[in-house]
Amino acid sequence: MEEMKRFVWCGIASLLAVVMSYSAVSAEEDSEICLVYEAEDALCEGNVHTESLVEGYSGNGYVTGFSTERDTCTFLVSVEEDGFYDLNFVTASMGGYKENYVIVDGESLGTVSMEEESFTDSILQRAYLTAGTHEVSYSEYWGWVYLDRLEVTPSEEIDSSIYNVSAELVNENATDNAKRLMSYLADNYGSSILSGQYSQDGQYGKEFTVVYRETGKYPAILGLDFIEYSPSRAENGSTSNATQYAIQFWENGGIVTFCWHWNAPAKYLTGEWYNGFYVEGTNIDLAAIMNGEDEEGYQLLLDDIAAIAEQLLTLQDAGVPVLWRPLHEASGGWFWWGASGAEAYKQLYILLYDQLTNVYGLNNLIWLWNGQDADWYPGDEYVDIIGEDIYPGEHVYTSQVDTYLRAVNYTSPAKMVVLSENGCVFDPDLAVRDGAMWGFWCTWGSEFVAKSMSIYAYNDQYTESEMLVKAYESDVVVTLDELPDLTAYPIRDN
Ligand code: CA
Repeated sequence: MEEMKRFVWCGIASLLAVVMSYSAVSAEEDSEICLVYEAEDALCEGNVHTESLVEGYSGNGYVTGFSTERDTCTFLVSVEEDGFYDLNFVTASMGGYKENYVIVDGESLGTVSMEEESFTDSILQRAYLTAGTHEVSYSEYWGWVYLDRLEVTPSEEIDSSIYNVSAELVNENATDNAKRLMSYLADNYGSSILSGQYSQDGQYGKEFTVVYRETGKYPAILGLDFIEYSPSRAENGSTSNATQYAIQFWENGGIVTFCWHWNAPAKYLTGEWYNGFYVEGTNIDLAAIMNGEDEEGYQLLLDDIAAIAEQLLTLQDAGVPVLWRPLHEASGGWFWWGASGAEAYKQLYILLYDQLTNVYGLNNLIWLWNGQDADWYPGDEYVDIIGEDIYPGEHVYTSQVDTYLRAVNYTSPAKMVVLSENGCVFDPDLAVRDGAMWGFWCTWGSEFVAKSMSIYAYNDQYTESEMLVKAYESDVVVTLDELPDLTAYPIRDN
C-alpha cells in the first residue's frame, strides 16, 4: 500500500491550477501537502470492485458496489505526526443524496454524504490519527456511490469563538426562568457537557433508575415526549403523565427537554393509529396543507398544536422552562413533517413557533431546532439551540466531531450545538480532545440503557457499564447533583 501513495498539492481545485500559481505561493501554509490514496488500489471487500466508466476519476478508475454492510473499501493511511486529519472521500453519487460510514481502526467516526453525480469532495473532519499506519474504511450505509480516492490533509485548528454563544433567546418575551436556564447553558458551553436521558416515566422511571443504580448519579436533563398527548392517540385511549414528570424533575432541580412524536390527525392515518408519526402510517401531505390546497388539514394541525400548547402552558404556569425540540429529525424524511421537503417543513416550523409564541403566549420555551440539514434551517430568529441526533451503532464512543462541526456551521455566528438524541454515550475525554463540546447529550430510552423486561436492569448493548460510569463521573460532565439552583441563576444580557 505504501508505494501506492502519492503526494500532491491540495486545497486548490486542480493540480494544474496549483502548478500555474505555484511561483506566486510562498507561504508554507498555502502549500499544505496531503496524502492521496486511490480507491482502486485499496483493499476492497464484498461486492466492491473497480470500474472506469464514469469520467472524471483520478488514477486508474474508482470503486463501486457498496450494496451490503460488508461492502467496504479500506485504505492504509500512514501519517508521520499525531494529530487531526480531514478525510476527503472523493465520490460521485449514483443519484441524489447519499451517506456512507467512515470507520478508522474499527471505530465508527460518523458518515460522509454526497449529492453530486460528478466526482466531488466529501469530507469527514478531524479524525485523530497517531503517527503510524491506520486502516481507514469507507463502508456501506446507503451505498449508491462511486469512490475515486481518499485525500488526507491535516485539519485546521478549531476557532474557539464557536463556544462563545449568545444567551439571548429568540423570544424577546422569554420568562426569567427560561433566560436563567439559557444563561447557565451558555456559560458552561465549551467547558462542560450536561448529561441527559430520555425516561418516559420521569425521574423515578426505568431509565433514570437504571442509570442511577449503575453510576450513583442522575442525569442533569430529563427527556420526555408529548407523543401520547397527540389528539389522534388520546382518542384511542393513550394517556401520559409526561407534563407532571417534567414539573416534578424541575422541582427536584433538574432540566427538562421535550420532543413530540406528532401523531398525524386521525383523518390521515392509513395504518395502525399508533404509527401515525411515521411516513408509512399516514397519507398526510404537508405541502398541500401549507400551500392552501388542504384547508381542513391546516385547521386540524392547529387543533393538534392547541393540545400541545395546553401542556406547555401547564409547564409555564409551574415555572418550568423547556428545551423544546419539535419536528425533530425532519430532513431524514421518516416522519411526516419531513416528507414534503424543506420548504413545507420550514413553513410548519415557523407556524408552530408563531402559534406557540404569539397566540398561546408561551414564553418558557428554548427553541431547539433539530432539522439536521442546513437547507432545512428556518432562520436565526426561530432557533436558540441546534440539535443533532446520532445513533452510531453499538459500543461506539467516538465524539462525532465531524457532525458537531457541521452543525456549528449551519449558521454564523454559531449557535449552541447539542446531541439531542443518541444511542451510545460518547467518551467525554474524546469530546474534549476533539473539540466536540456538545452542550449536552440525551440518550434515548428503552433498550439504549435498560433491558426490555419489566425488571430494572442495565442493558450494555449500546454503552458498556464502564463507559457509562466514566461519562457520569467525568469532571467535564454535569449531573443532576452538580446543577446550580436554576431559579436563582444570574441572567446574562448577551
Ligand atoms: Ca481513482
